[in-house]
Amino acid sequence: MPASRTTAPTYIYPAQGQKIHYEQGRLIVPDEPLIGYVEGDGIGVDITPVCLKICDRAVEQTYGGQRRIRWVELLMGEKAASRFGGDYFPAATLDAMRDLLVSIKGPLTTPVGGGFRSLNVALRQELDLFACVRPVRYYPGVPSPLREPEKIDVVIFRENTEDVYTGIEYPPGTPENEKLTRLLRDEFHARFFDASALGVKPMSAFGSKRLIRKAIRYALDHGRRSVTLVHKGNIMKYTEGAFRQWGYDLAREEFPDSVVTEDDVQNRHGGRIPEGKIVLKDRIADIMFQMMLLRPDEFDVIATPNLNGDYLSDAVAAEVGGVGIAPGANISDRVAIFEATHGTAPKHAGKNVVNPGSLLFSMVMLLEHIGWTEAAEVIRRAYVRTIAEGIVTYDFARLKPGSKEVSTSAFGDALCDRLERKS
Ligand code: NAD
Repeated sequence: MPASRTTAPTYIYPAQGQKIHYEQGRLIVPDEPLIGYVEGDGIGVDITPVCLKICDRAVEQTYGGQRRIRWVELLMGEKAASRFGGDYFPAATLDAMRDLLVSIKGPLTTPVGGGFRSLNVALRQELDLFACVRPVRYYPGVPSPLREPEKIDVVIFRENTEDVYTGIEYPPGTPENEKLTRLLRDEFHARFFDASALGVKPMSAFGSKRLIRKAIRYALDHGRRSVTLVHKGNIMKYTEGAFRQWGYDLAREEFPDSVVTEDDVQNRHGGRIPEGKIVLKDRIADIMFQMMLLRPDEFDVIATPNLNGDYLSDAVAAEVGGVGIAPGANISDRVAIFEATHGTAPKHAGKNVVNPGSLLFSMVMLLEHIGWTEAAEVIRRAYVRTIAEGIVTYDFARLKPGSKEVSTSAFGDALCDRLERKS
């Protein structure tokens, strides 16, 4: 993929910082942790410095100088390519992300041209970041098309490594397609039109269970009430249907004391969820899109295969402010990469106009991930105050009559000023 790996960045970490590490499965975070950041292409140059500044201020404010993130700039995308002989995806950056355990990244351009896969997809595969986590909740004052957007507060766990995204596809007219067509028709008696394109949808118990396990653990750790498995098992019985079944199997095998099913609630607990337990339920994907518009407060944590999750997370995010605010993370059992969910928006790049909200709330997720929840809350409160005063970037300004449109950096400064004020 890269034009050359002969020159590569070598990272020298700031001497004052210490590495985050694991001890007996627990994340140990020093007071001055080394955390990686990738500025990102396009509007990365506008949003990333603003978000780093807000985060540093909030941490300083919250912990009175006792804690401080020691940022390590990591190169990926165009900035890496321009400095390191066309290498968009330096191996040293991947190594550093593995080593540091926690990083945040701006958006990356997928270079157009033969031989390039998406850098984001490559990153997920190389680091086996199997869960895409997208919290979606409403903040007062953010423009929303819904009447009661405040009813939305869900965290979507989307499987990131399987399903139709594995790229096992064969166009008509290729030898692979012809061979597979013959196998399916002659040996499995499958029926489909001539010259069909063929794709494979692999889904495993291993891949599904590790995702659902993460969602259940998250729900238990964060005092959530339910986990909903979203699938199309009525149609795709042995892939999506299996996802659902593996979810219930996992709950029975690994969480017998803390998870009950909807059937248990009705049949064994008189319709009431037992104290301290969460409910595991499932919904068909198409009805779920309706439910997230009509009765979103019935849902809490959601676990879903790759394609459903791709659609659902963008649709639900649009209900509460869309790309201007929706944060995300891609995580494995060890490594976590937090990222803006939008792309590089090239037409706005370098103009200091876009909304830093998506990367900022990814930063809030990062702070929560390392256990610095107080600083995360300080940023949240300052964000709500800033928006409530009508200070917004262009994208929200056009949806909020009477608001004051400001630049990306001015929005960041306004938010920093409001960090200073106690509630
Ligand atoms: P995009 O998200 O970059 O932009 C689509 C439109 O959304 C923009 O024109 C803009 O109007 C709006 N927008 C996006 N971010 C915004 C922000 N922060 N504030 C205000 N408005 C914002 O999607 P695209 O144009 O399809 O993709 C452009 C490039 O980004 C492509 O190279 C694509 O591969 C890449 N991409 C990267 C990621 C990622 O790094 N995670 C995700 C999606 C797309």
